Amino acid sequence: MPRYPVDDLIAALATPPGAGALAIVRVSGPKAVELGAGVFRGRRDLNTLDGYQAQYGWIEDGGHPVDEVVALVYRAPHSFTGEDMVEFSCHGGTVPARRVLETLRQAGARPAEPGEFTRRAFLNRRIDLAQAEAVADLIAARGSRAQEHALAQLKGGLSHRVQDIAGEIRSVLAHIEAHLDFEDDVPEPPRVRKLLKQLSRAQKALTHLSRSYAASRRAREGLMITLAGRPNVGKSSLLNALLGFDRAIVHGSPGTTRDVVDSVVEWNGIPVRLVDTAGLREDPGPVEAVGIERSRDELLKADLVLWVVDVSEPPDPADHEIARTLDMDRVHLILNKRDLGQDQKWVNGYSPRARHQTSALTGAGIPDLQAKLEQELTGEIAGTLEREDIWVANERHAHELNLAAEALSRAQKILSQERPWELSAADLHRSLDSLAAITGDRASEDLLSEIFGRFCIGK
Ligand code: GDP
Repeated sequence: MPRYPVDDLIAALATPPGAGALAIVRVSGPKAVELGAGVFRGRRDLNTLDGYQAQYGWIEDGGHPVDEVVALVYRAPHSFTGEDMVEFSCHGGTVPARRVLETLRQAGARPAEPGEFTRRAFLNRRIDLAQAEAVADLIAARGSRAQEHALAQLKGGLSHRVQDIAGEIRSVLAHIEAHLDFEDDVPEPPRVRKLLKQLSRAQKALTHLSRSYAASRRAREGLMITLAGRPNVGKSSLLNALLGFDRAIVHGSPGTTRDVVDSVVEWNGIPVRLVDTAGLREDPGPVEAVGIERSRDELLKADLVLWVVDVSEPPDPADHEIARTLDMDRVHLILNKRDLGQDQKWVNGYSPRARHQTSALTGAGIPDLQAKLEQELTGEIAGTLEREDIWVANERHAHELNLAAEALSRAQKILSQERPWELSAADLHRSLDSLAAITGDRASEDLLSEIFGRFCIGK
């Protein structure tokens, strides 16, 4: 049983602190409604409300008004935590919510730990561990793909698939263990071929799940494009043209992009960071030197580099210098300022992954460039993800799935070599343990603390 107390009352602010239209303070635990009713004055006593009923009124502290609120009552087990809960919608801003919270604390609720509401939902078996982690993923999602995956996991998609696989393994194990335990009563040994067939089905399902991880992780973490090039070739203008609004500073004199300037766009539901680098000049001032250092770091991390050049002029030594530092396999050469002319040396020189002609000033070539970049960077990932109905988006889940698959393949090998039944049974148990770690059927206090500790307070 968990050491964590689950019989007391916890309260926290559920919305971000600071200015806002509304702030929600919630309280959960047995007798949460009684506690809420004690500090609330409205037309009806909160104790008389059913679940999902709301009541307008005031929070009062010893007869003094604290805030004007709407109280929403939840009755166990039909609440987020599975316990009785009350949510008070207060006026936005830090002070009203803080004072409501303070009043609830004085009435007997204690401040919630980070993730404690979700932890209670898990301990009360409202959701399993994979679903609880999906709540955190949902909050952290930066692109619509990642949000879609977190929602699917929250609905139990991954958990059900994992349970199906575990069921298959468990049924094989039952045959083997019955034979081991009651060898005298069950003289007929299990039919190895049939068991192997069942295990191979489970193995296939595991592999299939694991395969979605790489693409799903990329969709969650997002991708990065950096813009490199000499000062004044039009990097900032190109960035702005791609973004469709002014984000970077555009200026006529060299070196105006003092630092890395970045923005995030969403392509195929995947966040893509576009990073403009400081002008890589040979003799930078001290402020620029810092910016230049950072741009080199950014360049190294990028999934794709847009090397922007002024195509109206021939390449100069600074261009050669930049080319030398770039990994051409990841470079798209942007022949910018096409409206001013075209120097042939750019058209054939160097060997980038692709070449594009643009005018960041007039917009010519920009839609085509954008479509090609979107396809190259995110097309394949999006395609892979669209073919799946369940995704593994979490590193811990991917790790446990791999462990489960390894143990399963060892068990299959042992079975096929007709080595002692005990050995394959041990590996099947290991495989089941890893699957149970995903859903939280087997989860240590440390693991739970680590997972829920990453949540925000009030969630
Ligand atoms: P950066 O230093 O590489 O970021 O260059 P900027 O984007 O600040 O552009 C430098 C100057 O070139 C500005 O005056 C821009 O308006 C101009 N510029 C940028 N792209 C083009 C283009 O395609 N054609 C023309 N004619 N001018 C451009």
